[in-house]
Amino acid sequence: MAEQKATNIVWHASAVTREDRERLAGHRGCCVWLTGLSGSGKSTIAVALEKRLWERGVRTFILDGDNIRHGLNKNLGFSPADRTENIRRIGEVAKLFTDSGVVALTAFISPYRADRDQVRAIMREGDFLEVFVECPVEVCEERDVKGLYQKARAGQIPEFTGVSAPYEAPLRAELVLATYRQDVEASVAQLLGLLEERGVLRRP
Ligand code: ADP
Repeated sequence: MAEQKATNIVWHASAVTREDRERLAGHRGCCVWLTGLSGSGKSTIAVALEKRLWERGVRTFILDGDNIRHGLNKNLGFSPADRTENIRRIGEVAKLFTDSGVVALTAFISPYRADRDQVRAIMREGDFLEVFVECPVEVCEERDVKGLYQKARAGQIPEFTGVSAPYEAPLRAELVLATYRQDVEASVAQLLGLLEERGVLRRP
């Protein structure tokens, strides 16, 4: 848990509520949290889902691993403590998007179960939808989109998830997408189904 350093701070409420924002948008805010190994398909699925949502008039935003590490989290590396802080900050940002009535899509390996549970804990019940992008490491390694597995196997990337650092699969994910045996469209269809079932979107 991150330590609270500041004192004498008071929460200031807005005159526009989350419900007001959601009424204007015509859908609920939520956080679709994609977790899985590098190369499992998180970014690909987030981009494809966002396109489909956008076509339906849904306000969305993608928070993606490398992008966040260029800015907000540029001072963090891949040690266990830094990975935890990385996810804590992203979780707080995803919560802000969710509270603003946006469907926030996050694409981070987020290898530790406790870190993901902590994000779930700061969100309102039902806001955090944990989606396990399931793909065996051998398949991810075969895809090796960014050439990272090859580098990791050669010992050039220390603490690489799935090779030299652990990945803890979710135990109670809201959804599992088996990307080693279904295409991107099938995963998007499953996700749209989940969002409708949970009342984030209205059924068309
Ligand atoms: P991650 O964000 O999890 O690191 P990426 O989305 O960047 O993964 O890379 C996944 C790669 O695997 C992409 O090149 C994508 O085209 C490919 N791929 C092959 N089959 C699938 C599938 N069924 N679902 C998602 N991605 C797939």
